[in-house]
Amino acid sequence: MLRRMDIYDHPSFRMACQQFDLVADHLQMPESERARVKYPKRAVTVALPIHRDDGSVQVFPGYRVQHHLALGPTKGGLRFHPDVTLGEVAALAMWMSWKCALMGLPYGGAKGGIACDPAQLSQAELERLTRRYTQEMIPFIGPQIDVMAPDLGTNEQVMAWMMDSYSVHIGAAVPSIVTGKPVALGGSQGRREATGRGVGYLVNRATDTIGLDISKATAAIQGFGNVGSVAALSLARYGVKVVAVSDVFGGVYNANGLDLWGLEKHVAAQKTVVGFSEAEPITNEQLLVLPCSILVPAALERQITAANAGQIQCRIIAEAANGPTTPEADEILNQRPEIFVIPDILCNAGGVVVSYFEWVQDLQSFFWGETEVVDKLFRLLESAFTRVVSLSRKQKIPMRKAALALGVERVQKAKRIRGLFP
Ligand code: NAD
Repeated sequence: MLRRMDIYDHPSFRMACQQFDLVADHLQMPESERARVKYPKRAVTVALPIHRDDGSVQVFPGYRVQHHLALGPTKGGLRFHPDVTLGEVAALAMWMSWKCALMGLPYGGAKGGIACDPAQLSQAELERLTRRYTQEMIPFIGPQIDVMAPDLGTNEQVMAWMMDSYSVHIGAAVPSIVTGKPVALGGSQGRREATGRGVGYLVNRATDTIGLDISKATAAIQGFGNVGSVAALSLARYGVKVVAVSDVFGGVYNANGLDLWGLEKHVAAQKTVVGFSEAEPITNEQLLVLPCSILVPAALERQITAANAGQIQCRIIAEAANGPTTPEADEILNQRPEIFVIPDILCNAGGVVVSYFEWVQDLQSFFWGETEVVDKLFRLLESAFTRVVSLSRKQKIPMRKAALALGVERVQKAKRIRGLFP
């Protein structure tokens, strides 16, 4: 079994497996059930030829991994990034499974990706690549089979092209094939903001839990895309002073707090936070160890490692990104009780929760207002936060282990009750 699963080998997949093994031990999961709960059910690899604008043809690799089918369709984002591999996508699909189960959603986890640099492709090329990927995926997706959403490097427009390509194939509009689409196509109010808004809500709950005055708190945020930029604004609304942000090109720092509106305008024009006039430059490495109350990794996996975990100087780590902390870093953080970790599968769950609301609205063709969406989102996050904190306290285990235990156990139960099929 293990040898055949070598196709997924990747640092992030090894990390997801290590986390799973620790939790399976904690749950005393029988050996006979482990491989079935742990490994992805299906993986699809496709070659995607497209015409570049200069008339040449280029082939891009594309992937989709569907982790388990026991609770409903699979659900998960689509990533455009040069380093995407099958193994990375498999790790992200596993995390999606535990996240959906923790939040009580009727989904298995999935993830997809295309190894490409979206910044090097024109809009027309991106559209051809997205449509080609959707076409290749048609036998493996559907509103009751597998539903995609935006992730790193993809956005509402990419989802709109996917929805259109699938609908053309079916011969009727099928909005429920993707979530995170524009509201004009059956997207949900509040979906674009959902992940960052959820981060803000949970950080506020964490400050209550550890007795930190949020109006005196400072934050440093790595990644200023969809999630990082909305998390910054959301934290600012709770009274937090955002002192540093970064992106793939570098970061900016102002001890008195960054002017977030000015920064948004700068990013809209320059496509990077770098060069923002009212701040000093800072590197991504420096940002992670900056003295601040709240550290928000909102970019890539494996940013908090054994090399920097000992130097982190915050009170709360809010994991907006998926998999930002390695198991070796976890061991160091577990020895530092002054740091409260909101683990990724809880911290960034706002995105998939509102994706679920979008799917439900599309299936019923009955749409909700933003207040209703946000109210329902906060209720689900509140319930999950309370369950994770109380399990962590009751069993004296780290927050990550508690969150994963709740998610993994639900999948294990579903598989056990159903039998060997899903
Ligand atoms: P995005 O593409 O909108 O933004 C990503 C940001 O990270 C950009 O500012 C980019 O410049 C920066 N970045 C990329 N590589 C970097 C590097 N090496 N160092 C520093 N910064 C870097 O993506 P997003 O949707 O905001 O996703 C960010 C993270 O949140 C990812 O881990 C994603 O899986 C996770 N996530 C996203 C959603 C969602 O709804 N979009 C939901 C849950 C989790």
